[in-house]
Amino acid sequence: MAILLDGKKLSSQIETSLSKRVQALKQKTGRTPILATILVGDDPASATYVRMKGNACKRVGMESIRVEMPASTTTDELLAKIRELNANPDVHGILLQHPVPHHIDERVCFDEIALAKDVDGVTCLGFGRMAMGERAYGSATPQGIMHLLNHYKVPLSGKHAVVVGRSAILGKPMAMMLLNANCTVTICHSKTVNLADHVRQADIVVGAVGVPELIKKDWIKQGAVVVDAGFHPTPNGGVGDIELGGIEDIASFYTPVPGGVGPMTINTLIHQTVEAGEKEVNE
Ligand code: NAP
Repeated sequence: MAILLDGKKLSSQIETSLSKRVQALKQKTGRTPILATILVGDDPASATYVRMKGNACKRVGMESIRVEMPASTTTDELLAKIRELNANPDVHGILLQHPVPHHIDERVCFDEIALAKDVDGVTCLGFGRMAMGERAYGSATPQGIMHLLNHYKVPLSGKHAVVVGRSAILGKPMAMMLLNANCTVTICHSKTVNLADHVRQADIVVGAVGVPELIKKDWIKQGAVVVDAGFHPTPNGGVGDIELGGIEDIASFYTPVPGGVGPMTINTLIHQTVEAGEKEVNE
């Protein structure tokens, strides 16, 4: 029977310890770390994610500043706002909610975030440092997945990991983190030929693709570790990028959908903001 990688439970345990760290910082400095969130436009899903991140800040006793900008915002206007937050000494972390409206150059805006405040791990500089094994905040979703795998002591070294998806915020950093953990890594994407054949060879499979149940249960090798970053709402709750019905009989470990990767993503963002606040005090 497979072991459930319970992101909901782990993130709630981590929140308890983060609350104590926030309190300790408050006693020492008289203030808490602050996360600034930037929401551009009126996409309801993005607004929900930003609200959930603000609520997570509240749960650990931390403050957040919510910046809302209209869908008509230009790249230059967004860059100016990011520079303002970079220069604000009260702000320890900056989250620019992805995706921004199409006319904005998202990459340029991500890269304007100061490295010390890049708690969502979205800058090229942060990615490069992480890839080289240097200190940097990891991209929140793959970093959260690594916390989960490490917490449950999932064996990684020498394993063949197949990451399906190569986005800048998820697939690519995921592959790099698994490589740094001594996995042998295959990255698949929309031009991959015979996706099923690659997944069949995986000791660890990560669904990071954004297509409901694209990865079929009968592609999964007996005893594989199954990590599903996808979430697609359905009348019964939701499905991921991997067909998970009955996966308990095949996998050795698996993340549920929901309650696996999602809570760990938000938790990692908050965790990294607390670390940024502590770093300011300790350095
Ligand atoms: P994305 O930017 O749209 O990237 C999707 C990736 O999947 C791309 O690399 C794409 O390949 C690949 N792909 C698409 N169709 C494919 C196919 N038929 N076969 C193989 N590869 C295919 O998405 P993302 O932002 O990385 O998100 C991926 C998933 O993770 C989504 O379900 C999203 O909701 C979820 N997610 C969850 C969290 C969380 O907190 N739980 C956070 C972020 C994302 P190309 O590069 O060739 O186009």
